[in-house]
Amino acid sequence: MTARFLTAAATGLALAITATAIAQDQDVTIEATDLGGGVYMLVGQGGNIGISAGPDGVLMIDDQFDRLSENILARVEEITGGQELKYVLNTHYHGDHTGGNEAMTAAGGTIVAHANVRVRLASGEEPRPDEALPVITHEDGMTFFWNDNEIQIHYVPNAHTDGDSMVFIPNLNIIHTGDTLFSGRYPYIDLDGGGTVDGYIANLANIVEMADADTQIIPGHGPLSTEADVRALHDVLVEAKAAVQALVDEGLSADEIVAADPLAEWNETWAWGFINGERMTRTIVTDLMSEKAHEAMDHSAADHDH
Ligand SMILES: [Zn+2]
Ligand SMILES: [Zn+2]
Repeated sequence: MTARFLTAAATGLALAITATAIAQDQDVTIEATDLGGGVYMLVGQGGNIGISAGPDGVLMIDDQFDRLSENILARVEEITGGQELKYVLNTHYHGDHTGGNEAMTAAGGTIVAHANVRVRLASGEEPRPDEALPVITHEDGMTFFWNDNEIQIHYVPNAHTDGDSMVFIPNLNIIHTGDTLFSGRYPYIDLDGGGTVDGYIANLANIVEMADADTQIIPGHGPLSTEADVRALHDVLVEAKAAVQALVDEGLSADEIVAADPLAEWNETWAWGFINGERMTRTIVTDLMSEKAHEAMDHSAADHDH
């Protein structure tokens, strides 16, 4: 019952954000930024898109919403001079990154994603049709040798969801994080979709390790970013988690913790419409409390064995 309630709440959230996006702008311009080496960042609505263009054709990373597909394809055609769309990587299953899958398949693209993305897109209350499903999946990463680049797809376990891919192109020093980075704002961590606060924090540290001061980082949401932006979010989440943890350890209930507003000092800078201070607090509380419940279960199981 709890799981169903949470799923319904998450769906409601997704619908709300979609409706807002539609209300904001019917005629979205897709802005493109040239990152060099045939790689571009495309911004419309929803998750930021990356493309690698060149002699092998177009590899696209994420495809936003279905209603934008025509605009996106027109922009890609314009940028590349009509190169063929060959592959589309979904960094994870959310609709603001996979909404255009049917249209991209129709345009000749082959959808690629972590195996859990295919499972999630094919199930749930509104399963997506076959044309929207990844036809190539990976379990623990893969590499495209594409347009003279080595485009590495890294599997990120249990960060934003349970099927996150992050893209690293070493020779161009470019990273596309998918939603394992919300730049300059609190991240949405989809606990029902297999995300965890610890996994999210661990991967931010991982990105900092992969990057240097010159790395161009395309975040899932937010502007083109740098290692410093990743470090800043990492540090805020570490401190925010510690602040919430202290109250959990004192034995406060979830509602009492929210009322105590432990993230107050960060909210002005990091809270935003979708993930306000309360929602970020509840995400951390929920995650910490379920972790605690699991540990308690493990301990009692261990006691039983002895
Ligand atoms: Zn997103
Ligand atoms: Zn997402």
